[in-house]
Amino acid sequence: MDVHDKKTRSYNMSCIHSRDTKPETIVRKYIFKLGFRFKKNDKSLPGTPDIVLPKYKTCIFINGCFWHRHTNCKYFSWPKTNVEFWKVKICENVKRDNRNYNLLMDLGWKIIIIWTCQLRPEQRDNTLQNLVRELRNNIST
Ligand SMILES: [Zn+2]
Repeated sequence: MDVHDKKTRSYNMSCIHSRDTKPETIVRKYIFKLGFRFKKNDKSLPGTPDIVLPKYKTCIFINGCFWHRHTNCKYFSWPKTNVEFWKVKICENVKRDNRNYNLLMDLGWKIIIIWTCQLRPEQRDNTLQNLVRELRNNIST
């Protein structure tokens, strides 16, 4: 049985290819409107964070639930075919993510991870409000 319904799958697939994927655009537009200024896809930092806010010493990663293995997420499930291939590939992604987060933290950056499931319409407002609250905290700490 395929646990993804049709709508979910097309949402997931739409997030995979381009650099400027929709979930990232949602977050960038929202915080930009509130006056936050940031760099996009900063290649000078480990892991090329999606959003970098130097003033807040914060890097934001917007992670796809599938590619970055969001644990206990209903939108993550192992593919039914080529299981070994996917396990290796996804585990490599997760290892690389953790390595990059550690490198960034060693450099004094704070990390915020937003999962694409948290940007689905029913959760989006909450997620974005929490994000802004966290950013404002980061400037004072
Ligand atoms: Zn998720």
